[in-house]
Amino acid sequence: MSNQPGIFSSAVNLDLGGASQPAPGDAPAGAAGDDAVHDVVIVGSGPAGYTAAIYTARANLNPVLLAGSVTAGGELMNTTEVENYPGFIDGIMGPDLMNNMQQQAERFGADIRYEDVVSVALEGEVKTVTIEDGTVLKARAVIISTGSEYRKLGLEDEERLSGHGVSWCATCDGFFFKGQNIAVIGGGDSAIEEATFLTKFADKVTLIVRRDEFRASEIMRQRALDDPKIEIRWNSRVTGINGENKVESLDLVDTVTGEPSQLAVTGLFVAIGSDPRVGLVKDQLELTAENTIAVDGRTSTTSLPGVFAAGDVVDPTYRQAITAAASGCVAAVDVEHYLAALDS
Ligand code: NDP
Repeated sequence: MSNQPGIFSSAVNLDLGGASQPAPGDAPAGAAGDDAVHDVVIVGSGPAGYTAAIYTARANLNPVLLAGSVTAGGELMNTTEVENYPGFIDGIMGPDLMNNMQQQAERFGADIRYEDVVSVALEGEVKTVTIEDGTVLKARAVIISTGSEYRKLGLEDEERLSGHGVSWCATCDGFFFKGQNIAVIGGGDSAIEEATFLTKFADKVTLIVRRDEFRASEIMRQRALDDPKIEIRWNSRVTGINGENKVESLDLVDTVTGEPSQLAVTGLFVAIGSDPRVGLVKDQLELTAENTIAVDGRTSTTSLPGVFAAGDVVDPTYRQAITAAASGCVAAVDVEHYLAALDS
């Protein structure tokens, strides 16, 4: 799962530097307020957000990071072993990696708050970030690192049976499928990672792939092909999820022959990729054709001055923990330069 916009609860009074005029879109009269104008507020707490917090904290910019109330840490909180993040010879569990980043940011004084952002006003010299209880944070610079969210199949029964056999998180829900026959949809690295993890619990995992080849990397493809508990259904699309109160079977159709079939399973894990989480900013920032936030070249500079973006929300291509972290570093350095130029 992905990082949701996040929050705060207490105010930190800072030197306001050159930018302390409230902007249009500030707190409505009577709303709980935070009178300080922070140097930088970071929205989102995946590798990009935490890395931006580490760098801006070390630059004495006293970042406030709004981490999300239930989604702090982002997608890696739902991942098992991360084998390709440099520096960990034997790999590291996704949640451990994120907890380490969070603690590293706090060690340098980052103010991490676990609430959800409901709106942002990004125009003008002072931006505002409003959280669920109506509190408004003001900031001279904002970093948007809201990550991405799981793609859905768009089937009628998907929502109804969500939590009743339909899941997007093997590490969260895999345990409930001990000794059962389940399915995973998708042909990318995520789907294979989920399927492999689920073989620890399930008797059999059917991997449903819509084409006749994987999108996943070679090492992951081989892992799926070599696993005796994973059966692959190529050229298959799920057209229906059946079950009164819990998943009982899936309707499938062969994408080549058009032949329908049914698959008896008690669980369905959807791992068909994710989309950038741009809901908060889509009406204020320029987006790309891929629906990511548009940034200028290799920078994190968006279409509005003082607003920077990092991580999966700007990246339609690489989408790795390490590239998100690097992108967070870029945003932090860009913020440093931006604020220094304002103050000079
Ligand atoms: P991807 O976009 O890479 O793969 C999505 C998969 O789902 C594709 O096989 C795609 O099929 C399929 N798909 C998409 N929509 C549907 C649909 N409606 N019905 C059925 N199938 C569908 O997403 P991932 O989440 O797998 O990976 C995202 C990024 O994260 C990648 O860069 C990946 O490398 C990385 N990652 C790396 C890991 C690792 O290194 N261990 C682990 C997990 C992720 P099609 O191919 O036909 O489009």
